[in-house]
Amino acid sequence: MSISKLEQEILSRRTFAIISHPDAGKTTITEKLLYFGGAIRDAGTVKGKKSGKFATSDWMEIEKQRGISVTSSVMQFDYDGCRVNILDTPGHQDFSEDTYRTLMAVDSAVMVIDAAKGIETQTKKLFQVCRMRGIPIFTFINKLDRQGKEPLELIEELEEVLGINAYPMNWPIGMGKEFLGIYDRFNNRIEQFRTEEEDRFLPLNAEGELDIENDMTKTSYYTQALDDIMLLNEAGNEFSEDKISKGQLTPVFFGSALTNFGVQTFLETYLKFAPSPQPRLTEQETIVEPTDEDFSGFVFKIQANMNPAHRDRIAFVRIASGKFNRGMNITMTRTEKSFKVTQATTFLADDRETADEAVAGDIIGLYDTGNYQIGDTIVGGKKKFQFEKLPQFTPELFVRVTAKNVMKQKHFHKGINQLVQEGAIQYYKTLHTEDTILGAVGQLQFEVFENRMKNEYNVDVVMQPIGSKIARWIENEDAVKDSMTGPRSMLVNDRYGNKVFLFENEFAMRWFNDKYPEVKLYSLL
Ligand code: GDP
Repeated sequence: MSISKLEQEILSRRTFAIISHPDAGKTTITEKLLYFGGAIRDAGTVKGKKSGKFATSDWMEIEKQRGISVTSSVMQFDYDGCRVNILDTPGHQDFSEDTYRTLMAVDSAVMVIDAAKGIETQTKKLFQVCRMRGIPIFTFINKLDRQGKEPLELIEELEEVLGINAYPMNWPIGMGKEFLGIYDRFNNRIEQFRTEEEDRFLPLNAEGELDIENDMTKTSYYTQALDDIMLLNEAGNEFSEDKISKGQLTPVFFGSALTNFGVQTFLETYLKFAPSPQPRLTEQETIVEPTDEDFSGFVFKIQANMNPAHRDRIAFVRIASGKFNRGMNITMTRTEKSFKVTQATTFLADDRETADEAVAGDIIGLYDTGNYQIGDTIVGGKKKFQFEKLPQFTPELFVRVTAKNVMKQKHFHKGINQLVQEGAIQYYKTLHTEDTILGAVGQLQFEVFENRMKNEYNVDVVMQPIGSKIARWIENEDAVKDSMTGPRSMLVNDRYGNKVFLFENEFAMRWFNDKYPEVKLYSLL
C-alpha cells in the first residue's frame, strides 16, 4: 500500500463512542446505524447477537471456547466512503473505569439524550471526560415520538447543565402523538415523520418556509417551529465548524431511534463534520500523526475471561498511527520487549479480505496472557515512545478487602498489585491500620476482582462494602492533620502514597470545607 493509499484509508476513519444514561436509546441507535452500514440485516440484533453477520465474526469461536464476550465491544461498518468504528461504552451494571477509558480511544462522541428526561447523571459524567479531552460532541435528542420536554428547554439544559454551546441542526415539529417531523436547518428541508421515503423530504424556499400547502402548514406545530427557528436564527449560536471540532459547540439533532426517524440524517451529517483520526501526544512531548508510516497504538481496555478454565484476556488497542498487519513485529515500550503478533483480530465482521489489516483509527484485539497493562504503548517502527498516560478516574464505590485465609497474604498482595497495575481496580490503604480499601467506578469491577483473585491467584477474598464515598485529593497535604479524619471523613493513602479523604456524602464534605477551609481539596476526573 503506497503512502497516499494509506493516508486515504486513515482519513476515511471515524471512531466514536455513544455516551448516554441507561435507557436513553444507545442500543437502539447503534442498531439503526449498523443497519444503514449494512453490518446487520435487521435492525434489532445487537442485543440478541444471535443472528446477523456478527455470527461470522472471528470472536465467536474465541468467545465460545473461552467465554469472553467481546462482539459488541467494537462495531465497524462502511458508509458513504467512511469506515466507522463505534466503541461500546458499557452502562447499567457494566459501568466501570473501562467505560471512561474507552473515551480515551475515540476521536468524537455522540451524546444521546432522552427528550423526556433531559441530561441525566451518567451522561453528565461521560460528557465531562469528553470535555476534558476537547473532542467534538454530537447530540442526538431521542424519543420525539413521545411527549418530552420543550425543545428550547432541552437546549437551555444542555448549555446550563453541561456548559456547552449548542447549535440545533434540526428542530422538531410537534412531539409525541403530534410529532410531524423535523425542520432541517442544515439541509434546508422538512423531513416528515411516518411518511414513505419518496414523500418524506419537502424542500424549503429561500425564506425557510414550505411553498406547498399541505396539512402540516395548517398546524400550530408548524407555525411554532417556524417561530422557534426564527428565534434561533436571531438569538442562537452561530454554526461554526471550528468550534465543533474543538468540542466547544455541539450540533444537536432531534429524532426517534425506535421508529428509525432522523437517524440516517444524523449519520450523514455526523460523517461530514466528525474528525478523522487525530494526532496523539507522547510523554516525550512529541506528536504522533495518524499518517506516520510506522505502526503505533495503545491499550485502553483489557477484558479478562471469567471462565476459570481459561485465564487469557483480550487487550484492546487503539491504533494511533500507521497500519497493522497480522504477524508483524512490535515492541512494547514499557518492557522494551519485541514480539510477533499472531493472535489478533479486527472488527469488520463481514469482510475477510481486509480483516487482516487495520489502520490508525481502528481498534484491534490482541490475545493476552498477562503481558499488557492499560495504557501500554506498542510500536512497529524503530522510534521508541510512550503515549501520554491515561487519566485516573475518581472512584465512587469502596470496599474493605481481606484474604479469607490469613496464610494467603503473599498471594493476596501479589494479586492486588497486579490487578491494580492492570487498571482493573483502584487501591487505597487506611493510614495507621493499613487496611486495604478498593475503589471502583462501577460494581462490576469488584465482581471481576473477586473472580480473578480466586481463579488467577487462588485467594478467596472477603469484601466488606463501605458504600459510596466522595473521594477528594489534597493540594496542600501539609495542612492535613490526623485529627481531621473520622467516620464521615476517612483519610487514606492512594497507591502512590498521596493522601485522599473519603467523605460519606456531600453534606460531610461541605461540613469539612467549612471547618477546615485551609485544606484545598480536588477531584480527579
Ligand atoms: P440503552 O439502555 O441506552 O441502550 O437504551 P435502549 O436502546 O435499550 O432503549 C431503552 C428503551 O427505550 C427500549 O425499550 C427502547 O425500545 C426504547 N426506545 C429507544 N428509542 C426510542 C424512541 O425513539 N422512542 C421510544 N418511544 N422509545 C425508544
